[in-house]
Amino acid sequence: MAIERTPTAVWQALREGNERFMHFNEERPNQDQGRRSQLTQGQDPIAAVLACSDSRVPVEMIFDQGLGDVFVIRTAGEITDLAVLGSLEYAVESLHVPLIVVMGHESCGAVAATQAALDGHEIPGGFQRVLIEKVSPSILEARAAGCTTTAEFEAYHVAETVDMVLSRSPEIKAKLQQGKVGIVGVRYRLSDGMAEPVAALGV
Ligand SMILES: [Zn+2]
Repeated sequence: MAIERTPTAVWQALREGNERFMHFNEERPNQDQGRRSQLTQGQDPIAAVLACSDSRVPVEMIFDQGLGDVFVIRTAGEITDLAVLGSLEYAVESLHVPLIVVMGHESCGAVAATQAALDGHEIPGGFQRVLIEKVSPSILEARAAGCTTTAEFEAYHVAETVDMVLSRSPEIKAKLQQGKVGIVGVRYRLSDGMAEPVAALGV
């Protein structure tokens, strides 16, 4: 079944997929031989998703999508860098996805480690330091805004990441203003499987 390629229709389709996943009622679409064969000719995903790398946050499963349906970028703490922004711009500009989803989650280790580091606990060494550096601004702003719970920090970091993508990528921001792309932030709940919206623009 073809989905209308508008930000609103795609977001609706992903929400419906998440609803199926939540209730163990998955359709597992687009995972047959016909789909495999079709995809050798190219890809036409309906959305780009930037999610945390956490093993408990499998994007296609959470939204009940199949092969070729979502263009996925995952980093610990769904942090952004030039490679992430380049990948998102590729999805929007070249693959014409009408929706970007930023997905954080319940019990995120990157958010917890950042809270701990800001409270004076040890900062991880090596390249892991970047995880703390990239999540810290969100936590500091969230604290200034009066947030106190880990759930609030996780949601705030997602919303901040949505803003960051738009402020760093004039291309994506222009597409949002033209109504060609929407951007949604969600906090995935491990406990009940819901991708809970925390920010939504253009959908
Ligand atoms: Zn995480």
